[in-house]
Order: sequence, then C-alpha cells, then structure tokens
Amino acid sequence: MAEQKQHCPGFEANKTLTEVTVKCPACGKVMEIFSDELGKIVKCSACGASIETAKCQVK
Ligand SMILES: [Zn+2]
Repeated sequence: MAEQKQHCPGFEANKTLTEVTVKCPACGKVMEIFSDELGKIVKCSACGASIETAKCQVK
C-alpha cells in the first residue's frame, strides 16, 4: 500500500527537535519548548505573559 509509506511530516520533523528550557520573566515558571520555537514568542502557561524564548532560554 502506497499510503503506508507516507509518514506524517510533522511527526518526522519532531524527531530532530530538542527540548529547550525557558523561564518566564514575569512569574518564574519554567517551561520546556521545542527548539523550533526558539526565537518565537510563546505564552506562559502559568500567567499568560509573552515570553521571548531566545532571551529567556535557561541552560
Ligand atoms: Zn509566567
């Protein structure tokens, strides 16, 4: 079946991603995001503040 050769592209992409830890500057909540979200702005799951992932990365 040709259909079975088609893997979900999103699933394949996830394999190459690493997890990055960021810390919310507003409330201190530590979250894990995927590396493709680095540089984007994500919303804190705790307080809803916008987090600049590139600047708030925790190493
Ligand atoms: Zn927060």
